[in-house]
Amino acid sequence: MSKRGACPICGRRSAGGSDLCDLHLRAELSLEEAYGDWSRAHGGSLPYREFLERVLELSETGWAVKELIRWRMNSA
Ligand SMILES: [Zn+2]
Repeated sequence: MSKRGACPICGRRSAGGSDLCDLHLRAELSLEEAYGDWSRAHGGSLPYREFLERVLELSETGWAVKELIRWRMNSA
C-alpha cells in the first residue's frame, strides 16, 4: 500500500486511487468526458492537446479544470 500523497496541482490531500485531490479528480473526469464528446463531434480526429487549448479559452470552463489543463500542459 502506498502512502497518501498530495495533489500535484494544489497540494491538498490526494483522493483515493489517484494523486489528484477530490476537486481536481472531478475536474479530470469531466474533462475526459468532454473530450469524448468533442472528439466524436470532430469525427474522432481532434488531438488531445488542441482540445485542451480550446477548453482553456472557454469562459464557462471552471477554474479547477483550467488549473488541471495548465498543469497537464506544463508536465506534458
Ligand atoms: Zn488539487
